[in-house]
Amino acid sequence: MLIPKVENRIRQYLELLERNKYESLLALDIEYFKTRETFRLPPDKVSWTAVSLPFPYGEEWTCYWWRTSFALPQKAAGRAVFLEAKPRADTLVFIDGLPCGALNPVHEKILLDKSGEAGRRYTVHMESYAGHKYPGEHPSKPDRVILTLGLQIPDYPNLFESASLIAKNEAIYGLYYDALVLFDLAISLDEHSLRRARILRGLYDAFASLRFEARMPELENQAATAAKAVAPLLAARNGDSAPAVHLVGHAHIDHAWLWPIAETERKAARTFATMARYAAEFPEFVFIQSQSAQLEIVEREYPAVFAAVKTAYAAGQWEPNGGMWVEADCNLPAGESFVRQFLVGKAATRRMLGYEGDTLWLPDVFGYSAALPQILKGCEIEYFVTSKINWNDTTRFPYDSFVWRGIDGSGIKTHFITMRTDGYNGAVSPSRLLEAWRHVQHKEVQESVISSIGEGDGGGGTKRSDLECARRLADLEGAPKAGWRKASVALGEIFARAEDLPEWKGELYLELLDGLHDADPYVHVDRSS
Ligand SMILES: [Zn+2]
Repeated sequence: MLIPKVENRIRQYLELLERNKYESLLALDIEYFKTRETFRLPPDKVSWTAVSLPFPYGEEWTCYWWRTSFALPQKAAGRAVFLEAKPRADTLVFIDGLPCGALNPVHEKILLDKSGEAGRRYTVHMESYAGHKYPGEHPSKPDRVILTLGLQIPDYPNLFESASLIAKNEAIYGLYYDALVLFDLAISLDEHSLRRARILRGLYDAFASLRFEARMPELENQAATAAKAVAPLLAARNGDSAPAVHLVGHAHIDHAWLWPIAETERKAARTFATMARYAAEFPEFVFIQSQSAQLEIVEREYPAVFAAVKTAYAAGQWEPNGGMWVEADCNLPAGESFVRQFLVGKAATRRMLGYEGDTLWLPDVFGYSAALPQILKGCEIEYFVTSKINWNDTTRFPYDSFVWRGIDGSGIKTHFITMRTDGYNGAVSPSRLLEAWRHVQHKEVQESVISSIGEGDGGGGTKRSDLECARRLADLEGAPKAGWRKASVALGEIFARAEDLPEWKGELYLELLDGLHDADPYVHVDRSS
């Protein structure tokens, strides 16, 4: 029997691999200036000041611009080269003057070149929004500075930690994700599972090739040897009855929440630039972008990002689906307001990309009016997706895929994202796929489920690790089959295979945020008079 020490040892090897996935090539010199103005491209007529990192900075409502120039060193030749910078704030990155992606706590690297050329010069600008204070969510909680949704500090200063050029150590990088996926799968399986025992034994044996004290390039060679030993474990396929999890790249961006609209505009640019760049690097990746209002902002303010979006769309990797112009509250608006959301939303995607959505994608709205199915039918929306009703605090909603009937009897095919741990901000790993599937209640009518994958609420999007893990999970024995899909395609598959769909008639009420809409006394007075 495998003793717990085996798992601990495997974890230690995984940490060794993670620390050595990249090699540091060059620390970068940084200059900065700060402004309350919004620039859509790096400004040239400003004076820059050199800083040494780590650099304390931060002032509310202010953007800090960083600049660096460098030539790729000899060691970068022929390797995948990345910029790694940690300003610890939502940051848009411009490479040679054009916006290309973003940095935040879950996206700390940006690919500069798949195959570096020694001596090639780059100029990089970065724009970090330094955030602002936000009152605690409860009177007992103090104010905090929101830097990104996932990162808050009690007060300024924030800290720009480091900026450097790094290159991928291919064998170590590959082995890290191979082993990460296998190990996560093994520890998610039943303790009596033969697959679990084989993986743990196989990883332990394969890792015997690695030496903790090894330096490069020995460690890279040892990783290549270990990867060969691990390969058969990754090649094991499922039988006939494996469920599927459809992965939909996603980044939830509330159009207006804890930040000004000026920041929503920058959030859209950062997120879309990053997702379009991943689409170019990972041809299997598909991203849903649900609010055409935000795409219109990017079209108007960041034409280079919009051009990258159009390229991803032409490659079938960008799904501008969601129906509404912005993801709207669905408790208070009048019917006409709903209809206008679809008219304006569809007209926008038709004009920009020649596309019309077929899905109401509303993962984060706090309840849904019984008038909606009829309006959706009239607006030629076929599907509805949310995750929010899973937040019910008392009654478990009885279905995950069902026909939702409105007040006139119209039926809409409705699908709930079942992931509980991350909700609509999902991550890809065997344990998460298994969790999404475990929560499907009616497996007799539903063979697959959607998981929306990517950091959200304040944007961000799918992570590199999600893309790497998904590559190993297309059909891996013991894990649900996983593949990137357009939501529309995934829903087509889910409902084509589902027979005898259950039905729900009437409002979809969220049993959690009760009283939300009359927390403001003016609303309360209006609605009770
Ligand atoms: Zn939201």
